[in-house]
Amino acid sequence: MGTIYDYIGGKILEDISKALHVFRKNEGSLADADIGKRMLSNIAEFEPAVINIYEAANAVRNARTVAIGERVCRTLHPGSIFTESVFLDELADAMLQKGFAEKCSAEEAESVLRKYPNHPLIISKVSGKHQEICRSHPPECVYWLAEKHGLKCLKRKGKCR
Ligand code: SF4
Repeated sequence: MGTIYDYIGGKILEDISKALHVFRKNEGSLADADIGKRMLSNIAEFEPAVINIYEAANAVRNARTVAIGERVCRTLHPGSIFTESVFLDELADAMLQKGFAEKCSAEEAESVLRKYPNHPLIISKVSGKHQEICRSHPPECVYWLAEKHGLKCLKRKGKCR
């Protein structure tokens, strides 16, 4: 499972980088390949879900701490389109402590998330709780690339938090 420590210690970037490497090397479906099954199992622990702005705003309003920062994987693609993520609760606390995000109000977070309407919103579980809302960039997003390779991992409906 992805943990808060992975986010502040850099392991999350190593894991994303390894996954991107596999996706770059394989053009077709990975659904029946052993590596594909392992990747799907790892990704499933994040329970990623595509949510709309109202669901995102609701998650933000229910959080104790809210912070904004560059989407985590952009470090691996510094020249790519800039989008931001919102971090909640314990993940937000940790990202603030490390200087990886800035504290904000629920209204500010909602306003930031509204800035990138063409980038799907994805909420992910970190340390067992949905604490990251990303304005994803599909060409470089592990979840969207997984789906492109036949690994269906994104929930479209349902309880997100
Ligand atoms: S774009 Fe995808 S892989 Fe990158 S931080 Fe957002 S959800 Fe994670």
